Amino acid sequence: MAAVTKVAVAGCGAASMAVAIPLAEAGVEVDVYELKSEISALGSGITLQGNALRALDRLGVWGEVRDEGYPFEGLTLRAPGPDAAVVAELPEVGTGGPDYPAGMGMYRPDLARILAKRAEEVGVRIHFGSKVTGVAETETGVRVDVGGASVGEFDLLVGADGLHSTVRELIGIEEKPEPTGMGIWRAFVPRPAEVAQSQLYYGGPAYIAGYTPTGEDSMYAFFVEDAQDRFALGPAEGAEIMKGLCGAYGGPWNEVRETLDETRRINYTWFTSHIIDGAWNRGRTVVIGDAAHSCPPTIAQGAAQALEDGIVLAELLLAGDAVDDPLWEAFHARRIARARAVVEASVQLGKWQLEHNRDADAPGLIFGIAHQMAEPA
Ligand SMILES: Cc1cc2nc3c(=O)[nH]c(=O)nc-3n(C[C@H](O)[C@H](O)[C@H](O)COP(=O)(O)OP(=O)(O)OC[C@H]3O[C@@H](n4cnc5c(N)ncnc54)[C@H](O)[C@@H]3O)c2cc1C
Repeated sequence: MAAVTKVAVAGCGAASMAVAIPLAEAGVEVDVYELKSEISALGSGITLQGNALRALDRLGVWGEVRDEGYPFEGLTLRAPGPDAAVVAELPEVGTGGPDYPAGMGMYRPDLARILAKRAEEVGVRIHFGSKVTGVAETETGVRVDVGGASVGEFDLLVGADGLHSTVRELIGIEEKPEPTGMGIWRAFVPRPAEVAQSQLYYGGPAYIAGYTPTGEDSMYAFFVEDAQDRFALGPAEGAEIMKGLCGAYGGPWNEVRETLDETRRINYTWFTSHIIDGAWNRGRTVVIGDAAHSCPPTIAQGAAQALEDGIVLAELLLAGDAVDDPLWEAFHARRIARARAVVEASVQLGKWQLEHNRDADAPGLIFGIAHQMAEPA
């Protein structure tokens, strides 16, 4: 007998799907409430490390992910300048073990679609256009409000509602994402033939320039700069800024420069970080994924951690027989050290850039975290 028979989840991102799918597979009734009216078509690419791919396999979608994504091995660090000189070839750490590639680039909306399809196949009910607005503990469960009206009582509410989590606020957890001082431009562009893996360029006019292939014909490219108030700029202005930055980097950037225009899903956002140090739950409501911890994507582990949170939570709920303190202690013990290691390393990498610290051992830090992530969650 599992600890739950009826669960509500706020949000329909990676964390949500990772808890919803295994619960529904085991016969738990799962209702997912997502404020958007459909699976988000927004976004460009995402890098999935091996441990994320292992998690996606657990969710039963590895075959589809493998078919849609672009697998690669290793990470190359290069220098700015016309020669785009190679500075380091980081040894491969297959964080998912030998059964998966070290990394994979993917078009974000494809990943979202694959996960939601799988969830619905195993019986998860996804309600779009449904914002979770209230939560109240009762004697027997937790009452959930959506759009201001109750949708019933559940054994558990999972707040997988991202960075600006409503659920986190509703249960009175005060830690929340804070800007780290950096902003990122991203674009989804045609893949130059020579781009076959993730590559990062430290220095030049951007703190970090980089790209990851997402398919035979596509990749995403990005520049990390000081956080600025760029939010009012339109895609055409964003494309011009990115084109200007391309000029300082050689190699594939020459081709990227030619293809950049306002149609390339130009996006600008700030990096944030936070972690809830203490319990991630209050009674029968818990937050996971970006709602519980966030970090700059400097080691591309955010979605991996969100997936792991969901899978570990589902595993404990299915193995337990009550939503009680021992369950929450076990969940916290399984997740906090790993999530904190990712947040701290990701923030540290950005900080070294902001401080122009030339002696910092970025490859060493990236390599060390990869080893840690290779251990099962
Ligand atoms: C610039 C950038 C690049 C990144 N690149 C990578 C990368 O390459 N690799 C990687 O692993 N990670 C990356 N990340 C991190 C990754 O995107 C996140 O960690 C991951 O998407 C978190 O998933 P989630 O399910 O917790 O939240 P989300 O994906 O944000 O999902 C939350 C969902 O909840 C919904 N929602 C919000 N409020 C409510 C409400 N009240 N009621 C109902 N629904 C609600 C939202 O609409 C959303 O659909 C990046 C992050 C940034 C900012």
